[in-house]
Amino acid sequence: MTAKLLEGKVFAGQIKETVRQELTALKSEYGITPGLAVIIVGENPASRVYVANKHRSCEEIGIYSKVITLAEHTGKDELLAEIMRLNLDERIHGILVQLPLPDHMKNAEKEIMNSISPAKDVDGFHPVNVGKLAIGEESLVPCTPYGCIKMLELAGIEMNGKRAVVIGRSNIVGKPMFHLLLARNATVTVCHSRTHNLAEITSQADILVAAVGKPGFVTKDMVKSGAVVIDVGINRIAEKKLVGDVDFQAVKEVAGAITPVPGGVGLLTIAMLLHNTVKAAQMICKSSS
Ligand code: NDP
Repeated sequence: MTAKLLEGKVFAGQIKETVRQELTALKSEYGITPGLAVIIVGENPASRVYVANKHRSCEEIGIYSKVITLAEHTGKDELLAEIMRLNLDERIHGILVQLPLPDHMKNAEKEIMNSISPAKDVDGFHPVNVGKLAIGEESLVPCTPYGCIKMLELAGIEMNGKRAVVIGRSNIVGKPMFHLLLARNATVTVCHSRTHNLAEITSQADILVAAVGKPGFVTKDMVKSGAVVIDVGINRIAEKKLVGDVDFQAVKEVAGAITPVPGGVGLLTIAMLLHNTVKAAQMICKSSS
């Protein structure tokens, strides 16, 4: 068997088309253009590339984009004051602090992230949004796992009653992925570094999500024939070579569908950020009308 390729660009394109329609509706109904503010502190080259990509994606689709670049030595209070200003700024509907923060702010990361208004928390990391996702209330959902779910939905992959296994339990991928799959009536198992007999568990999965951060971690023997394999991992193994957490060449021979890396889930993350910015704007407009 050779798996069907779930290409990120196809689904990202569909999500962006819906975002475009919602932007038009927001403009005609409320007369607003949603705005996203991204704060970057310091010189991390990878972060600068990510922020530039987000800015470009916003501009392309018609979302107002504001990038705030703060010097490496910026203090916590200065950053908190910037976030407070954005929380009150009516042109801004989404706020994102690009991680990682410089070392001197690492201890304050939670306080900084939690200072973003939950209504503008387009990363979906605020405890209010985390809690709402867990209890099934409408919320802003972390972009990467949300992108995985959208991809499954758009590809017409049945989740209801299916056995899903997520490898990884991080707050940004694994745990929200669990809640999203559970909400769609999958029977979900979350595995992590202390899980015993991992291959035995993963090989029962109809849907297998890998969010580990280890190149080629998921091998052919861990995958059930015909399973849908979603590879969240992004691992740089050489200057210009990115690979996922799944041994793609071998696993595609047994899986029913599989996402490539690059060109898979990564493209959906940014599409979902645009979606979340529009959603935040919609919720803010509705609550104040
Ligand atoms: P974390 O490092 O926060 O989490 C990794 C998880 O994998 C942990 O829960 C860890 O378990 C688990 N793990 C590690 N080793 C094993 C093992 N031997 N067996 C089973 N589980 C194991 O990573 P993230 O969730 O942040 O990211 C995961 C991957 O996804 C990375 O490659 C990252 O780059 C990528 N990523 C991609 C994004 C995209 O846009 N496509 C966005 C975000 C992340 P434990 O908790 O026990 O330590």
